[in-house]
Amino acid sequence: MGMNNDAMMQRDLEVIWHPCTQMKDHETLPLIPIKSGKGIYLYDFEGNSYIDAVSSWWVNLFGHANPHINARVKSQIDRLEHVLLAGFTHEPAVNLAHKLVDMTPGMLRKVFYVDNGSSAVEAALKMSYHYHRNEGKRKPLFLSLTNSYHGETIGALSVGDVSLYKETYEPLLIANMQVPVPRDQSTQAAKEALSVLEEVLEERSEDIAALIVEPLIQGAGGMHMYHPDYLVGARMLTEKYGVHLIADEIMTGFGRTGKMFACEHADISPDFMTLSKGLTGGYLPLSVVMTTDEVYRAFYCDYNDYKAFLHSHSYTGNPLACVAALATLEIFEREDVICNNIKKSAYLAQRLERFKNLPNVKETRQQGMVAAVELSGYDSKERIGLKIYRYGLENGVLLRPLGNVIYFMPPYIITEAEIDRMMEVAYEGIRKLKIEN
Ligand SMILES: *Cc1c(COP(=O)(O)O)cnc(C)c1O
Repeated sequence: MGMNNDAMMQRDLEVIWHPCTQMKDHETLPLIPIKSGKGIYLYDFEGNSYIDAVSSWWVNLFGHANPHINARVKSQIDRLEHVLLAGFTHEPAVNLAHKLVDMTPGMLRKVFYVDNGSSAVEAALKMSYHYHRNEGKRKPLFLSLTNSYHGETIGALSVGDVSLYKETYEPLLIANMQVPVPRDQSTQAAKEALSVLEEVLEERSEDIAALIVEPLIQGAGGMHMYHPDYLVGARMLTEKYGVHLIADEIMTGFGRTGKMFACEHADISPDFMTLSKGLTGGYLPLSVVMTTDEVYRAFYCDYNDYKAFLHSHSYTGNPLACVAALATLEIFEREDVICNNIKKSAYLAQRLERFKNLPNVKETRQQGMVAAVELSGYDSKERIGLKIYRYGLENGVLLRPLGNVIYFMPPYIITEAEIDRMMEVAYEGIRKLKIEN
């Protein structure tokens, strides 16, 4: 006899402290133990299935237990599971770095391996600050957008602006400043936000090392979206004022927005790009900071000039993770993923239309393979998101709303019929909410 869901949950709660969770919630909210996954589906210990509508926290691109990625990781594991990347190298890291350099926009020619999203942001911030220092300038301040999210380690949290995560730790944070994100997807909103950015840069650029942005979509900030014109303007202004532009594509990278990278919508090339999440197709933790030869050269000197970037993590560039990433990129090469995504996005957009008729829906938004429905008229204490989450699970769909925003970010292999089912459950959940209240 295997374990059932409840026994597994009890065993878990004895010892595991879960991320992003008030553990007391689990006195009443069941924890879902997952036994296996296949394609877009997750299966619990009692055989119930759940459509993974959030790609397991935005990481999965081509489904769970993807046959190609499985095969590639299995073959690597018998060859080399890990080796340090200082003084040593290995084939998967080399091949992956070349692929990333070839596929990312513009002048990003150097790849610095890290092992998760937040750490990539930390490394990018440190590199930017350190670059200016190596050039003889002290620039202790970072600029970011209101409502942004860049991870939850101290540096990454500092440049974020989601108060739920940030407020408590305020006294610990590094120097940061926020400028307004465009309020919506219009060109006018982009223009207005750019004029504030210009004012701030005019006044403070001497102190600012970098502007960090989530291009086009602010994920954890409730799938807030803005026009690519903002990126065009931000690139121009940061260049003009000698401030780096860090594009945090940890969520938007690898086809999520309808192009391989969100920066391509604006045809810009940042000074740094951080990538993680979809990089390994949702298999293993891995991240990179990509940067330019110009940045790289500012650190290149005799050892005793002390300009080297001495940042490292034990699992930097893990070979299994690099192979999972290579296998993921092979799928992009073999199949016309971006083109298929554009077709699926159009279908998502079409199915999103009917949500606008619900009286408790304030707005719907969509960009590529991300669609969002924002509700209005609820207090945060009502925990509407939690109600939708429960309703989804009872009906076989894993939705994980961000406050009042219900969103869909499924693996790319989802079919139209599965999109229908996923969205129907959300629709009914939102409709019933209205009746209940
Ligand atoms: C998820 C995310 C991060 C943090 O990545 P982790 O691997 O969760 O630390 C950083 N930036 C963005 C835009 C993200 O969506």
